[in-house]
Amino acid sequence: MSDNLLQRMNWPNSTFLLSTFLGALTIVPWYLWTHDLDLFQILLFVFYYFATGMSITLGYHRLYSHRAFKANRLVDWWTVFFGAGAFEGSVLAWSADHRRHHQHVDQDEDPYNINKGFFYAHCGWLLMSPKGSTCLDNVGDLKKSRLLRFQHRYYVPLCFLVGFGSPALIGWLWNGASGALAAFLISGLLRAVVVQHFTFFINSFCHMVGTRPYDTKTTARDSGIMALFTYGEGYHNYHHKFQYDYRNAVKPWGYDPTKWMIWALNKVGLASGLRRVPDEKIMQAQIFEQQNRLEEHLATPQGVSIPDSILESLHASQERLSHAMKEWTAKKKQYQLAMEKKIETSRHQIAELKKEAKEAARHVQQMFEEWKMLIAARNLGWIEHSPQV
Ligand SMILES: [Zn+2]
Ligand SMILES: [Zn+2]
Repeated sequence: MSDNLLQRMNWPNSTFLLSTFLGALTIVPWYLWTHDLDLFQILLFVFYYFATGMSITLGYHRLYSHRAFKANRLVDWWTVFFGAGAFEGSVLAWSADHRRHHQHVDQDEDPYNINKGFFYAHCGWLLMSPKGSTCLDNVGDLKKSRLLRFQHRYYVPLCFLVGFGSPALIGWLWNGASGALAAFLISGLLRAVVVQHFTFFINSFCHMVGTRPYDTKTTARDSGIMALFTYGEGYHNYHHKFQYDYRNAVKPWGYDPTKWMIWALNKVGLASGLRRVPDEKIMQAQIFEQQNRLEEHLATPQGVSIPDSILESLHASQERLSHAMKEWTAKKKQYQLAMEKKIETSRHQIAELKKEAKEAARHVQQMFEEWKMLIAARNLGWIEHSPQV
């Protein structure tokens, strides 16, 4: 190991990350092998897994970094308290790094730039981050909050208190010293390592695994499998394209427990102002992306050799899609004007307009599928591949 590398190491971060990781790989399996775990301890683990992990995805990420919705004080307190127990830094530092990630994605200024390799983006950047605190010049809005300033100032005692101390205390109340040890090892140590690495996946795997239906200019990718590990953050290509949307999975079948929780909090009055990108804008982004790829493909030697008859059917399909898109945009606008009472309409007419707008949206989806099938059938295999891979 060169002197240079030793100097660049962030020793507090490295010691913590390495010792907890090794502890979870050695002490925890030994404990599980030699002791029986009761149901209470398993439920406690599940509680801390979601409470701390989703305080990162729902609180640190969607609420504070992106301002995707407004939260009641209770949600603020909860995410700030349990978020500290995930051992990922204060909200201010985390959000400053994350906003820099979005602003400079895949470039040198990106704190977890995937172009420096999987390990660097996953946790290497934490092991080698320069000493001293993160520059907080891009979180002026968050610095106005007393709660966030308090958490930032007392982050170190707070993270140990919440991440290790509170599960141990609950375990002790449940079953004395042996309950405290089990809770410390399972809901404290093991849980902290699992939550850390699962959320680190967002910066590593989510920039490597999956497809890019909305934008191929960045490495961010959509993957339903990654969503399972990351509390729904696996739809990362969508997220980088539309970062202020409170949802990461926009398709109804997408696994996004963070989105469901925000939605549920809204229903019980604990969250408001949920920001959503309109459906037609999302569809437009997908169509635009596919058309760009088609044009790029047509400019390659492989594309130039495509027979005219195929090109004609492709263009005809493209025409139908563009017509359907115009129709949908017009219908949706009419419906919105009626809802905002800017045009004279009865309730029956509003219901009709809603039905027509939905029908037009379905038609666009069909035309888009037809267009994609045509491309797939002609083996123009660029549809799911990206030129940057
Ligand atoms: Zn990203
Ligand atoms: Zn983000």
